[in-house]
Amino acid sequence: MDDSARDLDSELKQIPERLEELRSSVQMLESLLAQERSQLDEAEQLKGARATELKDRVEGLQRARRKAAQATNMKESQAGEREIEANRRAIKDCEDDLRRIGEAIEAKTASLAEREKDFDEAKQLLQSEDDKAKARVAELEAERGELLGGRDEIVATLPQVVIRRYDRLKGPLITAVAIIGDGTCPACRISLPPQLYNDIRRGEDFHQCPQCRRMIIYKEIADAD
Ligand SMILES: [Zn+2]
Repeated sequence: MDDSARDLDSELKQIPERLEELRSSVQMLESLLAQERSQLDEAEQLKGARATELKDRVEGLQRARRKAAQATNMKESQAGEREIEANRRAIKDCEDDLRRIGEAIEAKTASLAEREKDFDEAKQLLQSEDDKAKARVAELEAERGELLGGRDEIVATLPQVVIRRYDRLKGPLITAVAIIGDGTCPACRISLPPQLYNDIRRGEDFHQCPQCRRMIIYKEIADAD
């Protein structure tokens, strides 16, 4: 019974693992998206600050021009010219920056749209895989219930020590029981000692392979049950 349910068990184990992988890649896309959004926000703030500075400098230039026009001596006139020049340079810097920031914002907006699309697609894929997985799990569990029907009753008839030994073996070894037709363990290929082989054929007790520790049952006895 356990052997026949093994494929179901491994699929039941794999389904949530696969979903978990998908879920973590969706989360990764989400955090990339958040990162790009905050970069875009920063660029927008910088753009706002530079635009305000530009406005101030344009006003400053007008003031400097008026001052220069009203200059009554050479010293005042030179000071006005210097102020005009400083404002002009600052205006040019602001304009250069604004152009650069504008280009960066444009590029960032485009890549953000692309990321949002990827994220939506991944989210939808996760949702549909999640639905499919739920349906498949229900299907597998129903099948498993059918295959393992009556197992509890059989377990109840067996000695506790045998069940404990079986459960201990079953995990790491995949199969806990080996059915033999000759004097060789079919799982690990060791030749069984003749006396052990004879005991196994009599089927009076539970025996284990001396090498791989699997519980060994003679084929004719297994078939007779
Ligand atoms: Zn063996």
